[in-house]
Parts: sequence; structure tokens; C-alpha cells
Amino acid sequence: MEPENAVSVALYRRWRPQTLAEVAGQEHVTRTLENALARGKTSHAYLFAGPRGTGKTSTARILAKALNCLNGPAPQPCNECLVCAAITAGASLDVLEIDAASRRGIDEMRELRERVKLAPAAARRKVYIIDEAHMLTTEAANALLKTLEEPPATVVFILATTEPHKMPPTILSRCQRFDFRRLSPAVIRARLEQVLGEMPAEATPEALDLIARAAEGSLRDALGILDQVTSLGEDRVGEETVADLLGKVRLGALSEMLGLISRGDTAGALRLIQEVDAGGKDIAFFIRDLLAVMREDLLQGIAHGKPAPASAVRCLEEFSKALEETKTAAIKTLPLELAVVRVLSGRPEPAAGDEDPALRKVKAVWPDILRAVKEVRPVTFGYLSRAQPVAVAGRCLKVALEDSFGREALAQQGHREVVEQVLARFLGGVWRLEEG
Ligand SMILES: [Zn+2]
Repeated sequence: MEPENAVSVALYRRWRPQTLAEVAGQEHVTRTLENALARGKTSHAYLFAGPRGTGKTSTARILAKALNCLNGPAPQPCNECLVCAAITAGASLDVLEIDAASRRGIDEMRELRERVKLAPAAARRKVYIIDEAHMLTTEAANALLKTLEEPPATVVFILATTEPHKMPPTILSRCQRFDFRRLSPAVIRARLEQVLGEMPAEATPEALDLIARAAEGSLRDALGILDQVTSLGEDRVGEETVADLLGKVRLGALSEMLGLISRGDTAGALRLIQEVDAGGKDIAFFIRDLLAVMREDLLQGIAHGKPAPASAVRCLEEFSKALEETKTAAIKTLPLELAVVRVLSGRPEPAAGDEDPALRKVKAVWPDILRAVKEVRPVTFGYLSRAQPVAVAGRCLKVALEDSFGREALAQQGHREVVEQVLARFLGGVWRLEEG
């Protein structure tokens, strides 16, 4: 199982979607499933792949209900009949959740081949939801494969995994695959507002923005942060409270790390690795998350017709290697530290002589500008520290940010104003900030 704190799980469970329509940000999955249910053309085996906290298990449970609802099968379960109620409560004998990462998974899989032959107890279909399916033992995977080769008509398998590339191809080829996406900050924010509306708590729009971005695509993480900040007893949770909490648990470490790398700040990156390690976060998880975000940025860039930057490719290669080495390393942080040093020492220095003098002037005071912004508004600094000044046209400064979270944040009035005022202080005149 992935490590997760108990508080976050509580809120995430309480606000689990109960219909396909309520599943946030995965319309490409839920619409296809709704259509299949409406036409009675469902599959015997599904693979739900995607990052943690994006709705895989919730969708699996809703699908199990939709298939078995006494008022169905229908695209949306009624959520009122006995079968629906039993599944919601986790008490149905026909919907079995198996956690492949735990011992229990092995025992259940051993009996699987015998059990699936039995007719469902109360429902139409027996549904096996197998979480973290890539962690099935070879023995268990073989048992599953045998069953998938000749699936009894009454059985449906839903395999959920964060790492589909680790699944045996023989199993993948027998499943209908759905890829769950990391959620956009806008989708997460909308859900946070909805949840907050039902809670006896309030938060400022800026606080919600920050949570939505810091969660880095995981609704579960976002609800976890919301749960923690609203339990502090403040009348109205503000941005600084959220920033404080994020600083403590280092949830923003991922974005910070990417910023340090793109600025070539080796010392800062090494310090951050130490902090993450000292904070108790598993370094292997940290590298894996970094890889996932970098890979997404790269693929998105390519999809929008941008050439793949050599530095990004190199980073991905070095960090993949570091992830492998971490498993056997005597000092867990060492492979990542070495990867950072290798990536950043191999970077060509920008040819300062060719640079626009106006841009050079901004770059010369950039560290001071960052410090000043940090004093005025630490949260704004968090975003700006990941940006690089790239062009000056008149009194307009263009900065580049590789991550879309930071780009959208800086474009917001509140943050932009802070930066523009500091620019005016250091460079004179009225300045405009543009991000790209
Ligand atoms: Zn029902």
C-alpha cells in the first residue's frame, strides 16, 4: 500500500463519489462506462491505470453497483436498494476488494479459481476489485490469468494500478484498459468548494487555490490538506495557514525541486533532498513522483508541438537510474544526490554575451527580487522561485515556468501584483509580468 495519513483517508472516504457522474475529472472514462452499461455491453475484465488519488477505486465500486443494482443494470446505480447499500457499506458478499500489496491478497487469489465458479450470493455479478494489481505475486497473477482466459459469465474483474507497466502483458491483453488522469487544479478546486460547502468551515479563495495546486493532481491529497487546515480551529482558513502546513509536510517539495533544477541551484536541490528525507518521506516515492511530473511535462510539450528539451530527457534518464539504485543503496539519498549533481554540472552555461542587455540587467538583480517577493508574500515566492526570466520587452518581463500549476498561479491578479510591485521597486517604472 502507498503510505497515506489517516486523516486524509477519512475525508476522502466520506466524500467518495457514489455515481459515475460524480467522479471528478475522468469524463473520458466515466462516459465510456455509462455507454457500455446503457447498452449492456460491459466487459469481464477492466484495468484502471493512473496516479494515486484520481478515482480508480471509487469508479470500480460504482461500476460494481451499476452492474448489480436491483433497479438496474443502469448507467447510474440507484444507491438506495439493498444491493447498492451493501456495496456502499463494504458489506456485500459479491463485491470483493483484494489488496494485492498485502498478505490477504495472496490467500484470496489462491482460492480465486475455485471461488469464481460459485454463483453470486445476492447480486447478478461477482465483482473482484484488485487494488495495486501490479503487486500480485507470480502465483497469484497466474491464477488470475487462468480465470481471465475462461471467465465465468457471472464474474467481473476490475484491476486498479498506479504502475501498469509492471503488469504482465498476458493479463493486460485480456483487460479493457482505462487511463485515469492526474486532475487539473481547476477540477480539484471545484471539488474542494463542493466539500467545503457541506462542512462547518470556511476558507479563502486563495487558500483553496493553493491547496488545489499543491495537491499536484491527486484529489485524495487535496482533501487531506483541506481536512488538516480546517481542523485547526480558524474561523476562515487563509492562504498562509495552508502555506505553513505545506511547508511542514513538504507537500510542495516536488514543485520546489523542479524549480531548483531548472534554475541550476545544486546546493538548494541537495538541501531540499535532505529536508525531504528528514521529514520522513520515502525517497523512492519522491523520485517516482518527480519522474511522473517531469514525464507529463515532457509529453505535454511534445503533444503541443514543442521539441523535447535535451535537459529534460537527461533528467528523466538520470532520475530513472537513481530510482533503481535507491532500492539497494546503503545511503538512500545518495543516488538522487548524485543524479542532481550530474544533471546540473553537465548543463551548458548560457552565453551571456549574446543576451539582451535589458534581460541581463533583470537577471543580475533576480536573486534580490526573489528575496523581496518572499518578504512580501511567501506563497508568491513559492511560485516565482520556479520561474526564469527569459525576455524583456519595454517594461514587460516574460518569465518561463515549466509546470502549469505555477504558471496559472502567477497569472492570477494577487500574485502578479506582488511581483510587479517588486519589479517596480528594483527596476523603476511600471512593470508588467507575463508568464509562458
Ligand atoms: Zn441500487
